[in-house]
Amino acid sequence: MADRRRPAATPAPGAGGPAGWPAPEGRHREIHAPRPSVPRSFQSRLAIAFVAVATVTLGLITPVIINRLDDFFRQQEEQALRLHAYATAIVLERFVADEVTDAPVVSVADGKPQLNPEVSALLNDRKLLELAANDVAQADVKVTFGTAHADATGVMVPDPDPSLAFSAAFTGTPGQGQARDSSISSATQPLISSNAVQAWSIEVELSNPYTSRASTIASITGLLLAMALVAAAIAVLVALFVAHRFATPVVRLTEASRRVAEGDLTARVNTEAESGTLELQALSEQFNTMASRLEQSVEIIRRDRDRSRDFLADVSHELRTPIAAMHTFIELLQGPAGRDPAARQEFLESSATQLDRLDWMAQNLLDLSKLDSGLVLLDLRPEDVRGTIESAVEQHHAVAARKGITLTTSLPDRPLRIAHDVPRVGQVVGNLVGNALKFTERGGEVRVSAAATPEGGARIEVTDTGVGIHPAELPHIFDRFYRGSQANEARGTGSGLGLSIVKSIVDMHRGTIEVESRVGRGSRFVVVLPRDPEARPSRAPGPPPADSPRMVDDSSSAAGRV
Ligand code: ADP
Repeated sequence: MADRRRPAATPAPGAGGPAGWPAPEGRHREIHAPRPSVPRSFQSRLAIAFVAVATVTLGLITPVIINRLDDFFRQQEEQALRLHAYATAIVLERFVADEVTDAPVVSVADGKPQLNPEVSALLNDRKLLELAANDVAQADVKVTFGTAHADATGVMVPDPDPSLAFSAAFTGTPGQGQARDSSISSATQPLISSNAVQAWSIEVELSNPYTSRASTIASITGLLLAMALVAAAIAVLVALFVAHRFATPVVRLTEASRRVAEGDLTARVNTEAESGTLELQALSEQFNTMASRLEQSVEIIRRDRDRSRDFLADVSHELRTPIAAMHTFIELLQGPAGRDPAARQEFLESSATQLDRLDWMAQNLLDLSKLDSGLVLLDLRPEDVRGTIESAVEQHHAVAARKGITLTTSLPDRPLRIAHDVPRVGQVVGNLVGNALKFTERGGEVRVSAAATPEGGARIEVTDTGVGIHPAELPHIFDRFYRGSQANEARGTGSGLGLSIVKSIVDMHRGTIEVESRVGRGSRFVVVLPRDPEARPSRAPGPPPADSPRMVDDSSSAAGRV
């Protein structure tokens, strides 16, 4: 129980618990202060998340791409270097072969290989080697001459001799974006040649070529960085768009909730708008349904409150009349009139009449309030409704006889068994017959009849040849305390509650009541009761049906149904 009084808000740091409450201990002490550095709007959070995802993705992918491209370019350059080495070897071999045709290119004297002097001169001139390095190889060139011999399978293999090596560095102008690339492994290309005298070999080794690998990688890295920036910008835009699409219905929902919280129960969320996910649309529709129900309930409560207020005012007014009359009688009896036995007798009789009226009204009010509050539980029994009608009519024969009115009952020959509360339905018939007798002149006729409906229910009719009801009054006859205004002595005696009670009882039986009337010709009240009220679907939820009957446009007659 104590926990219910505990305030929901978290106490401020250091403030301890609210007055009368010790600061909570242990895990309840954590304080969730908002972190100002973290953006709190959904849009900015989503934008940051998108940018983070884009950055992390590009941060992971970029090094891998660059690494793979670097490997690829390296392989390409090494392959190119090998081709250049081959071309250089062919060019040099052609030069040497053209220079020396009928003498050995490499001779061996005292076990030491020696290069033909003409070839030595050609190479020492350096022009040939520089041409090979700058124009063919585009790398540093090292040329090693040697003899050649046949291996066991008869294939010629070179015997390069380090003492016959010549080299030249690349001194030409590198192409655009090219730079010396020492990370490229050197390429070696041997070549066997022979002239009329002997076979000889030349081996070309190229190293430190000029390549555009580094600049290509650099420009690709730059491109990827630019792409990363564009991707981040697109991520921000997409995030803002998505967040906007997502947040708009939430904002609408919040706005509608705020209006409802402020008391505007007509506030609804526009579910026609395209934006928003299916879930949010369902939520909005649910909210609208909830708001409609709330509005309906408040409307019903408001109407009930107004009715109760009017009812209370009517009750006070109705009670005041007999009380005022009795007050007057008592004052008169206390005066000289009290000593006159005839006057005293008359005042006492009038007081008794007013007391009867008060008693009658109190009884009716009690009935009505019980019926309205649902305190009355119908005692539904499958009884023959003919018996109920007969005993209700029975009680009115004396009045009918006294007033000179013919009261007849016309009931079916076969039992008319419906589930009904016998005393309550008896009260319905009794009230209708009582009214019919009250509003019918001497010599008139009141007829009560019953018949089975096609659905197995009962249709009870009370018809009179009385004064009838004016069409303008018809919509009000079921209102509490309503009494017709036509000049008729009988109208002064009612309480205006009889038909309200009738209608409440018929409603509880899930039946209907209709009235047809012609001024000066009479009225007919038709009550239709179902065979079993509990088997009938209850009325759709919503405001209770209007009490006023449906009117038929007829100047002299009127009909209604409730
Ligand atoms: P009351 O106690 O005044 O009869 P009711 O609620 O029974 O109250 O009836 C309300 C009003 O309906 C009556 O005052 C009368 O004007 C009209 N009324 C009801 N029944 C009849 C009837 N059979 N013939 C004419 N008027 C009727």
